[in-house]
Amino acid sequence: ERIVSAEATELEEQSEQGLRPKRLADYIGQETVKHNLAVFMEAAKMREEALDHVLLYGPPGLGKTTLAAIIAAEMGGELRTTSGPAIERSGDLAAILTALEPGDVLFIDEIHRLNRTVEEVLYPAMEDFCLDIVIGKGPTARSVRLDLPPFTLVGATTRAGMLSSPLRDRFGVMARLEYYKPEELAQIVERSATVFQATLEPSAALELARRSRGTPRIANRLLRRVRDFAQVGGEAAISLERACSALEQLHVDPLGLDHIDDKLLKGMIEKFNGGPVGLETIAATIGEEAATIEEVYEPYLLQIGFIQRTPRGRIATPACYAHYGVEKQNG
Ligand code: ATP
Repeated sequence: ERIVSAEATELEEQSEQGLRPKRLADYIGQETVKHNLAVFMEAAKMREEALDHVLLYGPPGLGKTTLAAIIAAEMGGELRTTSGPAIERSGDLAAILTALEPGDVLFIDEIHRLNRTVEEVLYPAMEDFCLDIVIGKGPTARSVRLDLPPFTLVGATTRAGMLSSPLRDRFGVMARLEYYKPEELAQIVERSATVFQATLEPSAALELARRSRGTPRIANRLLRRVRDFAQVGGEAAISLERACSALEQLHVDPLGLDHIDDKLLKGMIEKFNGGPVGLETIAATIGEEAATIEEVYEPYLLQIGFIQRTPRGRIATPACYAHYGVEKQNG
């Protein structure tokens, strides 16, 4: 497990609940998304309707689940949570839909992983709040239409491009979550420190924020570990020095890069003179799958401008060379 992974560990999944802001006003950052959602929710409430279906997309750990829970709380409904891979048959989805109450929010995580048959049940449910059920088999089979209560579907995906267009078209609101700025992440860890009843110096909060790869989940994880170091050291507050030394011990560098990023980037520089080098070749040199590199390792490296994707493969940028203090060889 990488400490800078944006995916939640099983333990974190159980403990994240307490860290999640409950109201839109307490949700830090993502200003455009927040502002638009506030308007749409207010308008839906004025019309006494359910909020239009919302698609949240963007990298993992940026707060999609948190936002879905906030939408339910703000709209006065309950949050029902499931995920694309968990709904195997159309009957499973029918059971979930018929158990909804008016105004509930159905959150489907990894919605791009729904299978087609299940997806087709979702279309009339989203569009007309109804469910078409086929009773019987063969020539005597007939279709019965069931009304559903008005509800809001909140779908989350890291890969919006993988959604089928009929499904995508049924979302009234599409919101892309962006990586957070260090100042925003600093606010998030300061808030989390209060929940943990730990004292975090502002400079330490900013240092944690800078090393968190724009991702609240990573920021909260680094805070937990740094707090352990401070506690064992018998310190009442988490200082900048403590944060830096703990993060060094954890092999998280000032930009949030770990040994795997180092291996990948240094490999590109040393073995391929900075590229262009194909994804498959990078994958083979570091012993990882190409898809993992593309989905998990690369997004942050692209975001900080350390690598570029070109038609001929990946290249290490001058900023990447500068970070490792290496001169690019000519030729
Ligand atoms: P995934 O889909 O990968 O599970 P996610 O995008 O649904 O991730 P969340 O589980 O909502 O992410 O958030 C991860 C953690 O980050 C939570 O502990 C949450 O408290 C915190 N967090 C996320 N966004 C914010 C925010 N804007 N303000 C405060 N805390 C946040």
